[in-house]
Amino acid sequence: MTKQYETGLMWFRRDLRVEDNAALYHALKSCRQVLCVFVLDREILDLLPRADRRVEFIRESLVDLDGQLRQLGNDEGRQRAGLIVLHAWAAEAVPALASTLSIDAVFTNNDDEPQGLERDTKVGQALALSGKAFHSFKDHVIFERAEVLTQTGKPYSVFTPYKNAWLKKIDDFYLRPYPVRQYGAALIDRPPTYNAPVPELAEFGFEKTNLSSLKIPTGTTGAAVLVDAFLERIDQYHATRDFPAAKGPSYLGVHLRFGTVSIRHLAAIAFRLQTGGSPGAAVWLSELIWRDFYAQILSNFPHVASRSFKPAYDAIAWEEGLEAQTLYEAWCEGRTGYPLVDAAMAQIRETGYMHNRLRMVTASFLAKDLGVDWRWGERYFAVHLNDFDLSSNNGGWQWASSSGCDAQPYFRIFNPVSQSEKFDAQGKFIRKYLPQLAGLSNAALHSPWLASPLELSAAGVELGGNYPYPVVDHAKARTRTLQRYACVARQP
Ligand code: FAD
Repeated sequence: MTKQYETGLMWFRRDLRVEDNAALYHALKSCRQVLCVFVLDREILDLLPRADRRVEFIRESLVDLDGQLRQLGNDEGRQRAGLIVLHAWAAEAVPALASTLSIDAVFTNNDDEPQGLERDTKVGQALALSGKAFHSFKDHVIFERAEVLTQTGKPYSVFTPYKNAWLKKIDDFYLRPYPVRQYGAALIDRPPTYNAPVPELAEFGFEKTNLSSLKIPTGTTGAAVLVDAFLERIDQYHATRDFPAAKGPSYLGVHLRFGTVSIRHLAAIAFRLQTGGSPGAAVWLSELIWRDFYAQILSNFPHVASRSFKPAYDAIAWEEGLEAQTLYEAWCEGRTGYPLVDAAMAQIRETGYMHNRLRMVTASFLAKDLGVDWRWGERYFAVHLNDFDLSSNNGGWQWASSSGCDAQPYFRIFNPVSQSEKFDAQGKFIRKYLPQLAGLSNAALHSPWLASPLELSAAGVELGGNYPYPVVDHAKARTRTLQRYACVARQP
C-alpha cells in the first residue's frame, strides 16, 4: 500500500490511549513511519498549584500510554518504540520537534476549547511555513461542531430536540472503533536522544497529591476497571444516580476528560444496553449526549466561555465587594452552615470529585442563595475538579444560574435543606464529610440551627464553634434572588 507521508508525528493531548484513537489510526495508516509525543504544556502547567491531582493523573496515564506504545512496537519487533514527553510550550515545541525529527505531517485530535483552538492555529501556521502538514480529527465526542443541526441548519440550544436528532443520526459508523493495531507496523523506534522514560512529577516541578490514597485508577487500565465495575450497576443508574452516598454514577468523568477511555466505546455499550431495554443505560446514554450537547454549545456559541448564553442575564447585578468575597470564601471552604452544601464542598476539596446532584445544589446555592456571580464558582470548579471540562462545567454553571441554554428557569431555586432531606435522607454523605455533625439525629442533621440546644450539646455540636450558623436565611435569600433576576423576567 502506498502511504501519503514518509514520517508522521502523533501529538497526544486529551486522548491518552492507543486503542480506538482517531488521530493515531490516521497517522499509522497514512505514514510509513510514526513517532509519538506528549507535551507537558507550560502554557497551562505554569498557572497551576504545584500539587494538582489532574497533573498527577496525566503523569500516571502517560506511563500507561508509554507502556501501550512500547507493547505495540514490541509486537512489531521494535525495542525502543514509546512516547516522547517534553516539558515546554506546546505551540513552539511541536513545530520545533517536527523539524528536528524531519516530520512530514503532524496528527492530533480536535480540542475545541478556545485556548486549544488558538494553540492549534499557531501550530498549524508554523508547520505550514516549513511545508509540513497538520491533520486534526474528531475523537473526543460522538458528534462535534456543526454535525447535528436543526432542520433550518442552526445549532441546537435546547437539549431534548438535540438528543432526538443525535439518536436519529447515530449508527454503527459513528460508534465503530478505529482499528489502530491493524497499522501498528508503522510505529518506529524513538531516536536515542528521545528515549527517556516519562518524567517523575518533581522533574517538571510538581508534587504528589492524595490521588493514590483516593484510589482513583489512572490510564486505560484504570478506566477499564471502572467500566467493568459500572457495568455491574448500570441497569440501576436511573434509580441511584441522584443519591450522593450511593455508588450510582460511573466515576468515568476524569477518564473521558483525558481520553483514557473512548467515548465511542462507552456510547456503543450504553446504546446496546438501552436497545436491550435497560432503563439505567438509557439515562446514562442521555448523560453522554449532554456532554456532546455542551461541547457543541461551546463550539457554536463561544461567547459562553466568558458571558451568559442569554445576553439578558449579563445585566444581573451580583453581590460585590467585601460582602461577596466573604460569602464566596464561606462557600469555597464549606462554612455556609448548610450541611449538604458544606459536605459537598469538602468532597471536591478532599477528592477532586463532586457528585452531580451536589454540583447542581452548590452551584445554585452560590448564585441564588449567596447572590455571587456564577463565574466565580465556575472558576473554583475549574481549579478543583479532576474531570474539569470547560464545556460541561460552563454548561452546568449556566444551567444552575439559569443564564444558559435550556437552563432551569430563574425562579426555580433549590432549597438546600429539602435537597438534603430528599437526597441524603439518612445523612450518610453528610456524616462522612462533616464528622463533627455525625452525632445529630437524621431530623436535625439537615438544618442544625433548628435543633434543640440539648440535642446539639449531646451531639457535641457547637453552633458558631465547631459548625457555623447559616450565612444566609434561605427564605430571605430567595426573595432577594427573585428581585435580582427581575431584570430578566420578561426573557426567561
Ligand atoms: P456519570 O453520571 O457516570 O456520567 C457519565 C458521563 O456523562 C460523565 O463522566 C460526563 O462525561 C457525562 N455527563 C454526565 N452528566 C453530564 C452533564 N450534566 N453535562 C455534561 N456531561 C455530563 N462534567 C464534566 O465532565 N466536567 C465538568 O467540569 C463538569 N462540571 C459541572 C459543573 C456543574 C455546576 C454541574 C451541575 C455539572 C457539571 N458536570 C461536569 C456534569 C456532571 O456533574 C459530571 O459529568 C458528573 O458528575 C461526572 O461524574 P461521573 O463520571 O461519575 O458521571
